[in-house]
Amino acid sequence: MNLHEIPVRQVSGVSALKAGELHAFGIFTVNDLIEYYPFRYEDYRLKSLTEVKDGDKITVQAKIMGVPVLQRYGRKSRMTCKMVAEDWMFTSTWFNRHFLRDQLVAGREIILTGKWDLKRNQLTVSDSEFPDKGVQRSGTVQPVYSIGGKITQSWIRKTIQQAMQQYGELIPEILPEGLLKQYDLMSRKRAIQRIHLPQDQAEGQLARRRMVYEELFLFQLKLQAYRAINHERMDGVAHIVENSIIREFVRSLPFELTDAQKQVELEILRDMRSPYCMNRLLQGDVGSGKTVIAAIALFAAVKSGHQGAFMVPTEILAEQHARSLAKMFEPFGISVGLLTGSVTGRKRKDLLASLQMGLTDVIIGTHALIQEDVFFRSLSLVVTDEQHRFGVNQRSVLRRKGFNPDVLTMTATPIPRTLAITAFGDMDVSTLSERPKGRKPISTYWVKHDMMDRVLGFISREISQGRQAYLITPLIEESEKLDVQNAIDLYVSMQQAFPDFRVGLLHGRMTPGEKDEVMRAFYANEVQLLVSTTVVEVGVDVPNATLMIIMDADRFGLSQLHQLRGRVGRGEHASYCVLIADPKTEVGQERMKVLTDTDDGFEVARRDLELRGPGDFFGTKQSGVPEFRIADMVSDFAVLEAARDDAARLVADASFWTSPEFEPLRGYLQREQVLQGEVID
Ligand code: ADP
Ligand code: MG
Repeated sequence: MNLHEIPVRQVSGVSALKAGELHAFGIFTVNDLIEYYPFRYEDYRLKSLTEVKDGDKITVQAKIMGVPVLQRYGRKSRMTCKMVAEDWMFTSTWFNRHFLRDQLVAGREIILTGKWDLKRNQLTVSDSEFPDKGVQRSGTVQPVYSIGGKITQSWIRKTIQQAMQQYGELIPEILPEGLLKQYDLMSRKRAIQRIHLPQDQAEGQLARRRMVYEELFLFQLKLQAYRAINHERMDGVAHIVENSIIREFVRSLPFELTDAQKQVELEILRDMRSPYCMNRLLQGDVGSGKTVIAAIALFAAVKSGHQGAFMVPTEILAEQHARSLAKMFEPFGISVGLLTGSVTGRKRKDLLASLQMGLTDVIIGTHALIQEDVFFRSLSLVVTDEQHRFGVNQRSVLRRKGFNPDVLTMTATPIPRTLAITAFGDMDVSTLSERPKGRKPISTYWVKHDMMDRVLGFISREISQGRQAYLITPLIEESEKLDVQNAIDLYVSMQQAFPDFRVGLLHGRMTPGEKDEVMRAFYANEVQLLVSTTVVEVGVDVPNATLMIIMDADRFGLSQLHQLRGRVGRGEHASYCVLIADPKTEVGQERMKVLTDTDDGFEVARRDLELRGPGDFFGTKQSGVPEFRIADMVSDFAVLEAARDDAARLVADASFWTSPEFEPLRGYLQREQVLQGEVID
């Protein structure tokens, strides 16, 4: 008998009506019911009044002394009665429970649960039972379920216990013997029993431990199996490109690759040469040199006779990448196209034709790349920059334009390992762990608004030495119009403050042509001070810029500030970041300190997570970070890591797909639709 197939109606006491109410909570089968775990427990174990503290919620056994005193206020009531427990006299108080009055007979034993008020020597009772009528809760720990509507706690408790009695013996083990032994885990049957009714704390802990492991292991198994099956398919493009040709390209670059870059290059080329479909995340802090990695991968795709696409979040970035890739690829006869929203008419038509005929080898662009009328002759590699800016759907549309192209996703938003391992378990992850040699750390200062004069002096000094600076204007929530006005005001006052320098202005309301012209002038050092909104946040690369000043820095998110700061420190000169802010709250001040303490993006992300909590880190649920029922991603992290390794090892073993020992796990994968039946014999 499979508990997944037995309707909950089969549990005695569950009427058709009750079954309907359970459906509203996602409970359809017996299995759903027994896996409906409590979210907390209520402790009804007996305490002695000598060991409890003021304010504790306690359960005590007492003897009724004297007669209850009842006061009524309209439909409400308050009733008090004297009690004695172990020679301790106290008063018990009930609200709106006047119907109990007749049962409060002097000399009778009673078990009271409630809140203890030491000063007033009083117990406010929430629950009571009489031992002479038999007790249910008293002396036990009771589960509390997140349930509501017409279903009461006591009914669901009773019904789950009933289900355990009828079907408990049939709860199958799902974890293989080897793992149970390795971690000394209790059986699934016992753990589920104990989760609903823990006998004592230690056993409750052991039960939880078992279910936490199971939950994390199954989650990882799903991701790993999904990945393994996709690798199994072998219907990706097996790129064929000689190492010597790649070496020649790398030698032509104006710098030597860092060790981290070399390592990542190997990982990517290995994936590209295999017939498996690459699905790789490249994460590297700002300035770690991700673009050149993209260039090498695109180069390899083209030299294998295919085409590559590079999708980025902003037009400014698309143009910057198009310019720098065109320069790198030119000596090798590779043609580069640029497709953004501002490429229209004849120009666009020609470009699309050239793409379809395979005359354009590499195309760089924004969302414009995924429009319906864009076709390739042979797209074999898709690189996306700053993946958090793209929805999963948009990426898959682009993917479908090629024949299962390899996908490389780059992100500078450092994801703490804790979250990466859960959210991206189905991707291979490469990490650029070092920045190019010779980079000086960025010195970050936090100053109050009243220091603005000194900040202006700082700008003047840097620019006089031949460097350039960014001045980022405050962010006004929900109002781009005000952002723009702010930027314009600041621009005007900077022109007045620095008559000897050229000041540029960049904001979201400018036409693409205007933006492009300002950026071109900044790249060429024709503009020394760039006043800008956050449009320069990602990717912009002007190595001669050494000073980043951020107004009202407390209005920005920490990772956003780190991204902005990453616009400097990209060349050989010492660089600075100045945060101007007067945060009111302690957390606000703490956030500024995080940035002055470290310029390591992973450390910033870690502290950000601490200050905000994981739910907030990714913003909303669409982030794809899973929510667990029992496990906690942060505190159970060590288990998560172990589960991931175990799942990977299992899936890689051929016997996993055939041996009867793993049948329950394969059944789980089938239920989760990771397996559609074709892999299982
Ligand atoms: P990000 O990872 O933030 O996208 P970029 O790819 O824009 O970083 O690289 C930052 C700067 O470092 C660029 O000016 C780039 O040319 C330069 N760069 C990249 N790799 C190296 C290297 N190995 N040695 C020196 N400079 C490098
Ligand atoms: Mg970049």
